[in-house]
Amino acid sequence: MVKNTCSVPGCDYPTRTPSVDLCGAHYERKRKTGSTSPEVPVKRLRTSCAVAGCDRRHESLGYCALHYDRLRKTGDVRAAVPPRIVRAVVRDDAGARWCHVCEQWLAEVEFDKANVCIRCRQVSNFGLNRLQWEAIFEAQGRVCAICSSDSPGGSGWATDHDHSCCPGSRATCGRCVRGILCSRCNTGIGLLHDDPEILIAAAAYVRSYREVKHHGEQPGSAGLHGGPRHSAR
Ligand SMILES: [Zn+2]
Ligand SMILES: [Zn+2]
Ligand SMILES: [Zn+2]
Ligand SMILES: [Zn+2]
Ligand SMILES: [Zn+2]
Ligand SMILES: [Zn+2]
Repeated sequence: MVKNTCSVPGCDYPTRTPSVDLCGAHYERKRKTGSTSPEVPVKRLRTSCAVAGCDRRHESLGYCALHYDRLRKTGDVRAAVPPRIVRAVVRDDAGARWCHVCEQWLAEVEFDKANVCIRCRQVSNFGLNRLQWEAIFEAQGRVCAICSSDSPGGSGWATDHDHSCCPGSRATCGRCVRGILCSRCNTGIGLLHDDPEILIAAAAYVRSYREVKHHGEQPGSAGLHGGPRHSAR
């Protein structure tokens, strides 16, 4: 059954995540006002599931039908495990097909044999659905989060995540997606070990060379003198 309920007196909604002791509504209030004020009833604008990253419609106890069902059966919503949905092909009168993950009517070309649209399946390894992926991409202006290019090149847009967060598994937990990168930048930061120190050192190295060259000095001497000597604007 429900493992953790909200710690606010009189509130028996399940906690937002296993690591907090407040339900979604009280968590929001705490975040916004700094207090949970149990005497003030919270507005339960339950439109979507309380599981982080789950946009399915609210069904019961704060969860979508799928997560509620899982909670009932296992006593745990297992937020990190994307729900596996195997359901029948659903078509509307106009012939559009229903994606059971992003919950949208989509054209036939968006699907192959499965009942989940191709995009939803492609991004499911990152713990996202099509709409969540689109929202991330939209928020960064539909360009690479590093170089701002609008063409992905190579193998297409890469969903970059923090590899140190959930190592070993091919799928990510869904909470460590950093952004969408063009294939060049994605390969680039990977080759530099995803390491901010190395990336900064590489930038300083390239910049110092340019500075020196620009001022007509010997290339290669910059490194020996420890980086750029002219302030980089
Ligand atoms: Zn609560
Ligand atoms: Zn859910
Ligand atoms: Zn979909
Ligand atoms: Zn890029
Ligand atoms: Zn990875
Ligand atoms: Zn992760």
